[in-house]
Amino acid sequence: MSENNDVLIQLEELGKVFYADEVETHALAGVHLQIRRGEFLSIEGPSGCGKSTLLSIIGFLDTPTAGRYLFKGEPAENLNFADRARIRNREIGFIFQAFNLIGDLTVFENVELPLTYRSMGRTERRRRAEEALERVGMSHRLKHYPSQLSGGQQQRVAVARALAGNPSVLLADEPTGNLDSKTSVEVMGVFQKLNEQGITIVMVTHELDIARYCKRNLILRDGRLVRDELVPDRLNADVEMKKLKDAEAAAKLTSG
Ligand code: ADP
Ligand code: MG
Repeated sequence: MSENNDVLIQLEELGKVFYADEVETHALAGVHLQIRRGEFLSIEGPSGCGKSTLLSIIGFLDTPTAGRYLFKGEPAENLNFADRARIRNREIGFIFQAFNLIGDLTVFENVELPLTYRSMGRTERRRRAEEALERVGMSHRLKHYPSQLSGGQQQRVAVARALAGNPSVLLADEPTGNLDSKTSVEVMGVFQKLNEQGITIVMVTHELDIARYCKRNLILRDGRLVRDELVPDRLNADVEMKKLKDAEAAAKLTSG
């Protein structure tokens, strides 16, 4: 395989302007970015700097107003509505801050749902959904409803739903934004494990400490990429979780 086949996502001089009430907002400008298979990348920056806009364009939920986007070498401008829908459904797994699970479907049904939009037999759907839930450690809660789960567990189910379609890339927008710090480490542990298994992950966050679990950090300011670097002292979620648990145990000993 040539080097180039490893490039999943390529952005060239990408820009996005929103027009609303005669106001122009330059959400993104001159963004150059190449993402290869197997990367685990974070996009960090303050609120309003363009993170969600960038992720939406990468995920074919929105279109740029300038520059080019190539997905697996194919220029996005050549794709019609149906092509874009197919890529969203088959190639991209989305994970959101608010989990976005459907409240009156069980855990299993939530994960199986996106697969029903494909021509796939019931047995195959079942197998895929079960396998995805197994990978995030949620196989023991198949018949629960989202409201019966903790925030961390709901996010694991959302990750399983994104995984079940066997996408080329997971796109996560502030996946730990609604979680406490311990649960955030747990979710980063799930991401690290999946990435070790070869899954490409692009994650948006405004928390610097969460970005340190990724392999590569981008910093976005006012719609421009101002930094792009490999994480020098990457955190390991298992190690950090053990530290948190040891600290909790020590606190219990001294208090009781
Ligand atoms: P972030 O995710 O980093 O908080 P966003 O990508 O959501 O930032 O927004 C970047 C900028 O674009 C902000 O100024 C925001 O107000 C603006 N923006 C985002 N979406 C729209 C929209 N649909 N219409 C008009 N302006 C928008
Ligand atoms: Mg956002």
